[in-house]
Amino acid sequence: HLEIEAVTKDFGHQQVLKGINLSVARGGTTAIVGPSGSGKTTLLRLIAGFEAPGTGRILLDGREVAGRSWVPAHRRSIGYVAQDGALFPHLSVGQNIAFGLDRDRFRGRKAVQTRVLELLEMVALDGSYARRRPHQLSGGQQQRIALARAMACEPEIMLLDEPFSALDAGLRVATRRAIGKVLAHAGVTTILVTHDQGEALSFADQVAVMRGGRLAQIGNPFVVYTRPADRATAEFLGDAV
Ligand code: ATP
Repeated sequence: HLEIEAVTKDFGHQQVLKGINLSVARGGTTAIVGPSGSGKTTLLRLIAGFEAPGTGRILLDGREVAGRSWVPAHRRSIGYVAQDGALFPHLSVGQNIAFGLDRDRFRGRKAVQTRVLELLEMVALDGSYARRRPHQLSGGQQQRIALARAMACEPEIMLLDEPFSALDAGLRVATRRAIGKVLAHAGVTTILVTHDQGEALSFADQVAVMRGGRLAQIGNPFVVYTRPADRATAEFLGDAV
């Protein structure tokens, strides 16, 4: 369960987030949509713990991670997949995935190898991929590996920052389905930032529309789409069809 309470963020004189309240149920899927510059990535970075909010607080499963107390990114049980996957190019796929493993739990080559194979299988790739290098994979396969690496940490929350936007249309749908299935099966709470309204409506059970550092509307996809809160939201969502 993720709780964002009255969160603000300033960069210099610009207030980029102007009081965000958002609640994401455990195992839920929320898509954050909105025009460029509305603050989507900034909000994701605050949840991840890459930056601290100006005011307000963030709670994970009832534990305050930002506000009066501060829990750094690596202690938050959060996975992050960026637009380009950001795999380490000089490491094999297997080494990339193993990077996220807790070495206290997976000691020795055999244990690591077994877990890497499980994670590959989870994203529907066979064991032969472990020896390949990232540049030998398609964009969609790279994103699935990026997800496997993020899942290696067994996060409670997965943050997806436009993970499908660099893929062509066909691959985008297939990769989105594959990744959505993995996350749903594992019951991981997921937040997806996307420019693509259609993607938001098909992927998430809750859609949050951001505009100018505020949440203009939060609701289930059907309600947001059929009953947009205002004209600007209606026009924005209109691009989806
Ligand atoms: P896009 O869809 O284009 O990625 P976004 O909705 O994710 O946009 P953000 O990246 O969160 O928007 O940026 C919101 C605003 O904050 C922008 O005006 C941006 O220039 C500003 N901003 C973001 N990060 C910083 C920073 N580190 N320093 C200064 N300004 C920043």
